[in-house]
Amino acid sequence: MTRESELMLYALLGIPVVVLAFFLLTMGPIGWFLAAFLGIAVLGAASVFGEDEEPTGPERVNCPQCGSRTAAGGACDYCGEAL
Ligand SMILES: [Zn+2]
Repeated sequence: MTRESELMLYALLGIPVVVLAFFLLTMGPIGWFLAAFLGIAVLGAASVFGEDEEPTGPERVNCPQCGSRTAAGGACDYCGEAL
């Protein structure tokens, strides 16, 4: 997905969400509960979709000696153990 279409998608989704949130917040405690529930659902969905866009950096492995997360190929950054 390109940057522009992604921003467009956020705008298309964001405006109704803001309007909906406003109405829910004016409803009183039931609306507040629904707004919080929807907020959590949206955050959960965003984190699921966000996993696709995780940048692919250099490969990283767990050091077999100390278990630290370190760059693959070479020695552990923490304990110097060869990987
Ligand atoms: Zn190590």
